[in-house]
Amino acid sequence: MEDYGNSDDEHQYLDDDEVDIDDNGYGFEAPATENMARASASSMVIPKESLLAAQMGDLLRVMDLLSLKEKHARTLLIHYRWDVEKVFAVLVEEGKDKLFAQAGVTVVENDHQVPLSQCSSTFCCNICCDDVSPQEVTTMDCGHCFCNNCWTEHFIVKINDGQSRRIKCMALKCNVVCDEAKIRCLVSARDSNIADKFERFLLESYIDDNRRVKWCPSVPHCGNAIQVEADELCEVECACGFQFCFSCSSVAHSPCSCLMWELWSKKFEVESLSLNWISSHTKPCPKCCKPIEKNGGCNMVRCKCGITFNWISGLEYSNGYIEVSEERPEHGKWRLESYYHCHKLYKAHTESFRLEYEMKEDIQDKIKILGEKDTSSKDFGWIKDGLNKLFRARRILSFSYPFAFYMFADDLLKNEMTREERKIKQNFFEDQQQQFETNIERLSLILEENFEKYSEHQLKDFRMRVITQSVTADYLCRNLYEWIETDLLGSLKHSVHKIAPFNSAAVEKASKIPYC
Ligand SMILES: [Zn+2]
Ligand SMILES: [Zn+2]
Ligand SMILES: [Zn+2]
Ligand SMILES: [Zn+2]
Ligand SMILES: [Zn+2]
Ligand SMILES: [Zn+2]
Repeated sequence: MEDYGNSDDEHQYLDDDEVDIDDNGYGFEAPATENMARASASSMVIPKESLLAAQMGDLLRVMDLLSLKEKHARTLLIHYRWDVEKVFAVLVEEGKDKLFAQAGVTVVENDHQVPLSQCSSTFCCNICCDDVSPQEVTTMDCGHCFCNNCWTEHFIVKINDGQSRRIKCMALKCNVVCDEAKIRCLVSARDSNIADKFERFLLESYIDDNRRVKWCPSVPHCGNAIQVEADELCEVECACGFQFCFSCSSVAHSPCSCLMWELWSKKFEVESLSLNWISSHTKPCPKCCKPIEKNGGCNMVRCKCGITFNWISGLEYSNGYIEVSEERPEHGKWRLESYYHCHKLYKAHTESFRLEYEMKEDIQDKIKILGEKDTSSKDFGWIKDGLNKLFRARRILSFSYPFAFYMFADDLLKNEMTREERKIKQNFFEDQQQQFETNIERLSLILEENFEKYSEHQLKDFRMRVITQSVTADYLCRNLYEWIETDLLGSLKHSVHKIAPFNSAAVEKASKIPYC
């Protein structure tokens, strides 16, 4: 495969296949749907301090509806993964008794019942077989009664095991979840550190057990959690600026699917260290594709997988002769070359993204200088808009390389389409990708200009070029993305390769939670 987009004269010539702005129907404005998506944010940032309030909000809804105590509402919600709608749905469909039984909730009419054990002078604990005074025993909602010592041991083991959310009764086959107040009371009498741990786990269950809430994966951690409206595929931006994929919690990676991205990151980690060395000293085995190093003058090389092949031709030996078998050797070689190619361009564009991101401050300074000048217009939103479009386009371009590797070169999807189909799609993809790339470089180049020094007339011209070029880049970005989403990935039998829709790939900024 040949590299494109790296020559110096790239920016000086216009392509004939330039997109006609007037024909795309968008004019100079961003598509209306996108503005709407931004206005009605469907994700929220929950700072650590507000976690309790957010959790309390959900608890109160369930407590109100079912006239429950907090502890029972919590047990219910933990069981139903903090999905309040689900609790309501089960209530309507299966009734209160079933709802409670499934979650291990037992509601006792009178909480201040006198345990039977108090009638006798001593109580024999069924677990340790010690005789203890009635003050030394605790009865759970299910009616099971054991000595405080045994309960405390049981709780501490479970808490240390990370099972704080659903500590069940000690009695055999009893499914009831223990009362959090009783756990708190007994454990804190023994060890306050473990009691703290218990509280922390209960609070964090709101995130760890919740399908719609996740910690922001930033390192070092910013302390925020993000809540989304629905747990569908989406990419979000935390208040700290970190953009991530909500389903796999790694960096926003569309148009790669989560699986592709996972495979790529692992491969990238292992291979980027030694890739330069490997490409100059090794060749891929024609059968298993692992890189092979030749350690002598002889060109008959044996791989660990068992085959022997000719170093120069890459063809496999069988019975001492070179056997021209299928098209397999070519494919293995081509696949490794594709990997080098995608790897190199992915790295190059990720680096460009980083540099362009640093340009942000520069541009803000330039805008400030312009603002102090006596210009007729003080509105420079179009520059920021152009820059944001550049960020998105560059990011999607970077991730389109690992995507292309798994879509067209790797064996991951080889059963999904014939070689001919694949080739046709690949050619079309690469044409679009190349056109997209060219236009991103143009936009980047325009935004690098020292526009703060421009005369009013030059500034008008600059404005026109920024707007035109950012609309073009964005239009190509959307086209490529939606084609990948619906035609390439959408037509696969493996639905694991679904990606977030394009509007979400704009990486929505999560809004502040209204509690604080
Ligand atoms: Zn006991
Ligand atoms: Zn019990
Ligand atoms: Zn964050
Ligand atoms: Zn993901
Ligand atoms: Zn091999
Ligand atoms: Zn081999």
